[in-house]
Amino acid sequence: MALQKTAGRIESIDTMNTTLPPVVKRASIVLSNLCPYAYCHKRCPAHNVTEAEILPTAIIRDVLDGLASLGFDNKNHELGWHGYNEPLCDPRLVDLMKHALSVLPNTGQLLWTNGWYLTEQVAAELVAAGATRFFLSAYTDSDLKRFRAIHAQLHRSQHNGRRVRVQYKRIQNLDDRTDDIELYPETSGYKICSMPLEVIQIWPDGTLGLCCYDYEREVGFGKLDGTNFCELLQEAIPKLTAIHDQLARRERGIVEICRRCPHRRYRPPILAESYWKRAGKKMPKQLRQSKHCHLDCNQEHE
Ligand code: SF4
Repeated sequence: MALQKTAGRIESIDTMNTTLPPVVKRASIVLSNLCPYAYCHKRCPAHNVTEAEILPTAIIRDVLDGLASLGFDNKNHELGWHGYNEPLCDPRLVDLMKHALSVLPNTGQLLWTNGWYLTEQVAAELVAAGATRFFLSAYTDSDLKRFRAIHAQLHRSQHNGRRVRVQYKRIQNLDDRTDDIELYPETSGYKICSMPLEVIQIWPDGTLGLCCYDYEREVGFGKLDGTNFCELLQEAIPKLTAIHDQLARRERGIVEICRRCPHRRYRPPILAESYWKRAGKKMPKQLRQSKHCHLDCNQEHE
């Protein structure tokens, strides 16, 4: 059964006209698990990386070619190169972006980056390689100043008929994602999460995953080490659809991590200061800082 999003709501339909469900919006190809700031960002999952994982170029090209053959190439589709890694530290990035541009000419390309190695000149070169959207996380005031200049230079510009968007945000505190999943209690206050199916998540070890919150890869739908991307995806679609369908009914019982995940939940009492006052205890620091996801991926965060 395929799913269709209509007027902001997800509904099930009985027929599937294409091999790729119409709700698929983004493919996140996580190039590696490496980030040059991981050593100082102790609250980021990248901080706990002990062994480098780098997604092989052959797999990335297979995914891009596979997406093209499945019709993933319209103005609503977007390719991301991130997921707790820093895409700009990957020396293959520009070549991969150019390949993506050649096989998926209508698909946007998102660079979610801490701006390491990003100057106005590099940003312009990345736009020429296919970047259509930048999300820049500024960790210092000087980063913020640099990103403002890039915004002034590129935001709303057109390149080869493609509109470029530049968003930036001064990050004061990282959300404590490594603890969030453990600290959040199970509650019934859920909103619809449409991450499975809406985002095709490829982790740097080649795992076809559930979503970015599952950074420990508790849920996987097979590995792209020798398996063709299209075959693996076709096998995974019924399972992803089942999870997506259940989340669309605000039921989070099908996958254990979804029950604990803070994404798109109503604010549980554990996040209210009054809850801790009543209990006569001090609210844990991690919870005080993790009321909101520090990211802003156009998803609603509670
Ligand atoms: S509920 Fe959380 S863990 Fe489950 S799919 Fe959505 S974002 Fe991922």
